[in-house]
Amino acid sequence: MTATATRVLVLNSGSSSVKYQLLDMRDGARLAVGLVERIGEETSRLAHTPLATGGDKRETEGPIADHEAALKAVAAELSADGLGLDSPELAAIGHRVVHGGLKFTEPTVIDDAVLQEIERLVPVAPLHNPANLTGIRTARALRPDLPQVAVFDTAFHTTMPEYAARYAIDVETADAHRIRRYGFHGTSHAYVSRKTAELLGKDPSEVNVIVLHLGNGASASAVAGGRCVDTSMGLTPLEGLVMGTRSGDIDPAVTFHLKRVAGMSEDDVDVLLNKKSGLVGLCGDNDMREIRRRIDEGDERARLAFDIYIHRLKKYIGAYTAVLGRVDAVAFTAGVGENAAPVRAAALAGLEEMGLAVDADLNAVRSGEPRLISPEDARVAAAVVPTDEELEIAQQTYALVSA
Ligand code: ADP
Repeated sequence: MTATATRVLVLNSGSSSVKYQLLDMRDGARLAVGLVERIGEETSRLAHTPLATGGDKRETEGPIADHEAALKAVAAELSADGLGLDSPELAAIGHRVVHGGLKFTEPTVIDDAVLQEIERLVPVAPLHNPANLTGIRTARALRPDLPQVAVFDTAFHTTMPEYAARYAIDVETADAHRIRRYGFHGTSHAYVSRKTAELLGKDPSEVNVIVLHLGNGASASAVAGGRCVDTSMGLTPLEGLVMGTRSGDIDPAVTFHLKRVAGMSEDDVDVLLNKKSGLVGLCGDNDMREIRRRIDEGDERARLAFDIYIHRLKKYIGAYTAVLGRVDAVAFTAGVGENAAPVRAAALAGLEEMGLAVDADLNAVRSGEPRLISPEDARVAAAVVPTDEELEIAQQTYALVSA
């Protein structure tokens, strides 16, 4: 890396999409952001916004066959603004990798051995790790000389004590198949818990925070003094809160029942619980804006879906209060957490005995900044703390390669 290399490209490769951001680490400024969608289809789409030049969003549609073609198209877009992958100012590429198992507790410079280990974890993350690997391999082929760093969604949760991470099932079976609770959204939980401490004017080591990451996927975490001690997602991102399309916690016997009594196949059950459950399964919509609109019109199904969502959230706030013993703040983040004031108000309603309360005026403020929504005299702070997983990945990547 040269002394002038201050840019990091963050890549988040999904099965049919690649999201990317190019950041300048001198000030964290975004130079370009974009998204390639529907890779492998006839109607692939690339949307690129060159923020550095103040240019408009450029959208192109047409077949993009695979991840290699997608990354090449992204590289061409970046080059058009003088921000190409061949620029000496590019210090590294940071890759979001969903599953790092127990081995990857920190961001890691990628070499062949690291790639092999990520590959070895495919059985526990069949939906995510293969796409992440494809993104890494493609980026390495384009710039073999450039440091590439893997930042793992699971890493922040590897500090969970064994009694929180283990399922109460036969130990030999669990160990043979690496079945345990790993947790996800770790980059967000790490970033938001740290930012929450900052908002309170304290060092992360001094505060206990419950982070509620409520996006389309949703998870809660209990963070004690900057270390995760429990989180709601498990072996896969299916466990825990009610999500946009995932059930969250469920009696595992429901799955036997669906197979034995309803005659569903393994794949049918997988699709049902991951794609057709949660808010969408309960009321047909997974967008909280639409659900609120329907509730305002008196729609009973939307109301019940909302109530189930909130009930689960409350249970986790209660559980993590007990796990932490003392809570300094509850922080809401991601699409729903940052934008849906009614969700925040309902989740904390009735929890005054636990020191939690929401100030209606503060809760109604719309802002992209971290902010408190609890009354000044509340024993436990309630906060909205916008997440920024790309910035966190870029910072972790840059810290590693510039060390
Ligand atoms: P993910 O990264 O998991 O796809 P996001 O964190 O972007 O999800 O959150 C997306 C969700 O946020 C949407 O499905 C929608 O329910 C919710 N959302 C986004 N904007 C708003 C808003 N203004 N009001 C209420 N909910 C919103």
